[in-house]
Amino acid sequence: MPASLGYAAHSAKAPLTPFTFERREPGPHDVQIEIQYCGVCHSDLHQVLDEWGGGIFPMVPGHEIVGKVVKVGAQVKGFKPGDLAGVGCMVDSCRSCASCSDGLEQYCEKGFVGTYNAKAKDGSITYGGYSNNIVVDEAFTLRISPKLSLAAVAPLLCAGITTWSPMRHWKVSRGQKVGVVGLGGLGHMAVKFAHSFGAHVVLFTTSPGKAEDAKRLGADEVVVSRNKDEMKKHARSFDFIIDTVSAPHDLNAMLNLVKRDGTMTLVGVPPADPSLKVGNLIFQRRQLGGSLIGGIQETQEMLDYCAEHGIVSDIEMIPIQKINEAYERMLKSDVKYRFVIDLATLKQ
Ligand code: NAP
Ligand code: ZN
Ligand code: ZN
Repeated sequence: MPASLGYAAHSAKAPLTPFTFERREPGPHDVQIEIQYCGVCHSDLHQVLDEWGGGIFPMVPGHEIVGKVVKVGAQVKGFKPGDLAGVGCMVDSCRSCASCSDGLEQYCEKGFVGTYNAKAKDGSITYGGYSNNIVVDEAFTLRISPKLSLAAVAPLLCAGITTWSPMRHWKVSRGQKVGVVGLGGLGHMAVKFAHSFGAHVVLFTTSPGKAEDAKRLGADEVVVSRNKDEMKKHARSFDFIIDTVSAPHDLNAMLNLVKRDGTMTLVGVPPADPSLKVGNLIFQRRQLGGSLIGGIQETQEMLDYCAEHGIVSDIEMIPIQKINEAYERMLKSDVKYRFVIDLATLKQ
C-alpha cells in the first residue's frame, strides 16, 4: 500500500502538523497520483475548525489537487503514467441515482464521498491533498492540460468549478449585469468567468485595497459593500449575483440589488445561517438559490475551457510548513487570491 506523508489537524482547531498514513493499493479502476500542488480552500479551514460539525480527525484537508499519474489499474482507460491529473472535492458517489445519472454527482442522493473528512464505501476515512500522493477512481479523476501553469490550475478544481457551475446553470451571458460578492478564492474566479462570458461585472468587497486587483481580474466596477451610498446606486439592477462570502453578513442588502426576476446564488457557507426578509424576494419576484461545486463532466468542461482561454487562478505559493499562517491570513480576508501548497516542500 502506498505510504503517504501529509499535514493533518489532529483535533478540531488544532494547528496542522506532519502526519503519516497509508492509501489503498490502486485497484483495477484506480489512478495513483503524485501530488505536486494543492490549493487552500476556505472550506478546508471551516472543516479544520469543525465549524460545520461532524469533523473526522486526524484530518488531512485539500481538494484542489494536481499532479502526475505514477500508476494505473489494469482497467484504467483514460490515464497512463506520466499524465497530468487533477482531483477536486469528490472521490466517489453512488453512480446510479437520478443526480449521478445526470452527471451531477455533487447532488448524489446517497451523498457523495468527499476527498477528505469523509467515509469511503469500504468504510475507510478519506484523506485529502495536503499530502504527497492520492489513489482515486479514474471516474473521479480530471484531465489537466499541460498548456497552463500547473500550480495555478489547482484552484480550478474547487474555486473554479464552484463559480463556473452556477453561472452556467443560470446562463450568465453577454450584456448581463453580474455581481460577485467577496474577492477571495471563489470570488476572483467568479470575476474571471463572468468577464469571460461577456457580462458587466461588479465586484462587492469589504477590502477597498483589493479594488485595483479586481479590475485587473476583469471587474468593470468595484463597490465597497459597507458604503451604503455606493450600494444604493445599484438598487434593483442586477441580473445575477453570486455570493462567495465565508462569514456571516447581510444578505438582504445584497438581495435588494437584484432586479425584478433576477437571481442571487449563494456559494459561500458561513458557519451560521443568515436571516432573510421574505419581502425582498416577493416584491420583485426575485429568486434566491444555492449551488454546490459541480459534476465531474462539467468540471472537465470547465478545465478544457480554461485551457482554451488561458484562464487560471492568481495564486500565492506557500511551502506546506506555512499552512497555519495561511489560515490566519485567510481569516483576515488577506488572500491574493488563492494559496497553493507546493508539495515538493514536504520532503524538506
Ligand atoms: P476566501 O478565499 O477566504 O474568500 C472569502 C472572501 O469573503 C474574503 O476574501 C472576503 O472578501 C469576503 N469576506 C470575508 N469575511 C467577510 C465578512 N465578514 N463580510 C463580508 N465579506 C467577507 O474563501 P473561499 O475559499 O473563496 O470560500 C468562500 C466560501 O465558499 C467559504 O464559506 C467556503 O466554504 C465556501 N465554498 C463553497 C463551495 C460550494 O460548493 N458551495 C465550494 C467551495 C467553497 P473581500 O475582502 O473582498 O470582502
Ligand atoms: Zn473548496
Ligand atoms: Zn448518486
